[in-house]
Amino acid sequence: MPTTATTALPDNPESLDRLLALVALHTSNGVVITDVNGRIRWVNHGFETMTGFTAGDVLGRKPGDLLQGPDTDPATVQYMRQKLAAGEGFEVDILNYTRDGQRHWVHINCTPIRKDEGVEPGFLAIQTDISVREQSKHRLRLAASVFDSSHDAIMISDQHNRIVDINPAFTRITGYSKDDVIGQNPRILSSGRQGRTFYDKFWRTLNSEGYWCGEIWNRRKNGDEYPELLSVKRVLLGPTDQVHYVAIFSDLTTLKNQAKEMERIAHYDDLTNLPNRQLLAEKLDSAITHANRTGKPMAVCYLDLDGFKQLNDQLGRAAGDKLLNTVADRLKRVLRDDDTVARVGGDQFVMVLRDVDRDEGVYQRILDTISQPVTNGQQVLKLSACMGVVVFPLGNDDDSHRLLRHADQAMYTAKQEGRNNYRFFDPALDAHRNQRRQQLSEISRGLTNQEFVLLFQPQVRTRDLAVTGFEALIRWQHPTLGLIAPGSFLPFVEGSHMEIALGEWVLKAGITELGRWHAAGEQLTLCVNISAAHLVSPTFAPFLEGLLRQWPRIDPAFLHLEVLESTALDDMQHARQVISRCQRLGVKVALDDFGTGFSSLAYLRALPVDIIKIDQSFIRDLPTNTEDRAIVESILILCSRFQRPVVAEGVETQAHIDVLSELGCDLIQGYAIARPMPGTEVSRWLSAWRTTPIKVQHG
Ligand code: C2E
Ligand code: CA
Ligand code: CA
Repeated sequence: MPTTATTALPDNPESLDRLLALVALHTSNGVVITDVNGRIRWVNHGFETMTGFTAGDVLGRKPGDLLQGPDTDPATVQYMRQKLAAGEGFEVDILNYTRDGQRHWVHINCTPIRKDEGVEPGFLAIQTDISVREQSKHRLRLAASVFDSSHDAIMISDQHNRIVDINPAFTRITGYSKDDVIGQNPRILSSGRQGRTFYDKFWRTLNSEGYWCGEIWNRRKNGDEYPELLSVKRVLLGPTDQVHYVAIFSDLTTLKNQAKEMERIAHYDDLTNLPNRQLLAEKLDSAITHANRTGKPMAVCYLDLDGFKQLNDQLGRAAGDKLLNTVADRLKRVLRDDDTVARVGGDQFVMVLRDVDRDEGVYQRILDTISQPVTNGQQVLKLSACMGVVVFPLGNDDDSHRLLRHADQAMYTAKQEGRNNYRFFDPALDAHRNQRRQQLSEISRGLTNQEFVLLFQPQVRTRDLAVTGFEALIRWQHPTLGLIAPGSFLPFVEGSHMEIALGEWVLKAGITELGRWHAAGEQLTLCVNISAAHLVSPTFAPFLEGLLRQWPRIDPAFLHLEVLESTALDDMQHARQVISRCQRLGVKVALDDFGTGFSSLAYLRALPVDIIKIDQSFIRDLPTNTEDRAIVESILILCSRFQRPVVAEGVETQAHIDVLSELGCDLIQGYAIARPMPGTEVSRWLSAWRTTPIKVQHG
């Protein structure tokens, strides 16, 4: 019967032996022959190479004792032992160890050698190294578990771009099951958002570089669109190395939502959802760029609700929030789409209006929409607001900060003029305010550096020219500008936070000087000018009290306060109270510049002043002007009826003195007696005056 060469044994036994010996010797498999007890009788060269043991090392020993190690599977070992004991053959895959401890997987095919085979009975074992196969199997298992447990979707498609496999994450993200997609083109995921040119480029990159990565929008099975981060790799797979595409993508929806939320928090106001200051700045910048490019004007409006704080306190926080939301909605509705309305503070809103000029109805419309009635439960409320407007580029404002500041300033001006109105930013007013601010800080610096001084101008009795006292007049000894008259800096101080500080300094410096005179035995009065606002301020009387306590040796009657007729005194009742309080301390009060105000007589009647100072404008032409003479005469008659002593100021000549003494004016003050002088000159001047009482100076 014909046999093939591989299975047929040669007829000649000698050549058979040789042949088998050759196979055993040269095969790279390990060949082991043992006796019936499993002790090694022979090993081939392949065994030596595979295990690292030489034939000499292993003869007479059991393979199991030599080759097995800690990670060898005990069940397999057990199985082999049973088979060997039963004299049966077996086939196993087992993890063995080389002589120097390296692990390697082998396949063992063990056959018993029976007695009747004409040789010593035992076992013939052939070991094949299968480490490579095991490793790739292991790697496959690993890959499969990555594939299955990956958080990212994985999709494999073949060279015709038909989907051949997907992982569970793919199903989770897209909603498509394996059955839905296997064999399909991945375009079933397409959202249509990416056009042809996109995919052309995609394929070009993928084919030329073997890789593409980017963000795209796809569509889930339920129709929802979602953003994904996709990477696609071109790989060669399968026995014939065919082109496949492995696509891995993750769903960016949550990430995007989070980013969107972060963006919202950073740029929008929580309450009204309007842009906040930060986003406003960006919008403003882009509106400025737009205005610069198109040459069309734009406007920035700064709006502040009237009396909102009280309303908020009155109605409670929740109702206040509701009102703010109503205002926000109304503002949005009154503006165009590309305009911006932002909330920049409690009840402050800023609007950026594109392509509008000054003469536009929109500003009034904004105020009108706010003053529409609002219902709050049963109540019907009426809000109003003031608004400042700056128009760009007319105002020459070029950066967003300045525009905002100017709109804010204009709003402030509008507020000062009452509720429910708007004002345009006025550059001249701004320049004035800036100058005032600078001046004030300069004045404050001067006060700290003790640059202010008092000069003293004597007052004398008309009857005998005896000196009764001095008026303190302030000067600013400026380090670079020299001596500055009060007319050049007091207007800035008026109505500012410096007004009281400077007034207190004058009082302190004045009373110190007065203390010196009295210590020297001169019973002189000191007249101090007090600004009306300072006088009626709540701190005035307490400060004066404190000061007088510090100078207990001075009789307060020697201190005269000169007050100007002023709107600050319009609350006559209050002014009266303050003046009376000062008088109770013993201090005397003079009404300064009498006759210049609109209501001198009303003041004279209402305020309990002790002394009247006729304004110098009535004195100047007194010797020649009969009308002035008539006025001064009637003031003097009036005051004598009220029993108030009168001081005439601006007495420059002997002629003045003559007329005033003729008319019976009690006291005179002016260049005819002396110009204001430093405190250090007072005593010298006094003794000179007392020896030669009149030294007329022409001013
Ligand atoms: P006032 O209270 O009417 O002071 C009199 C002003 O007339 C002083 O000007 C004085 O130098 C000036 N004067 C005195 N005699 C003559 C004269 O014969 N002819 C002319 N043409 N002028 C004369 P001054 O010192 O420049 O002060 C101007 C104003 O500034 C004062 O007017 C007063 O209202 C205010 N002032 C001065 N010192 C103080 C102060 O310490 N506190 C306050 N609140 N105001 C002050
Ligand atoms: Ca005065
Ligand atoms: Ca005066």
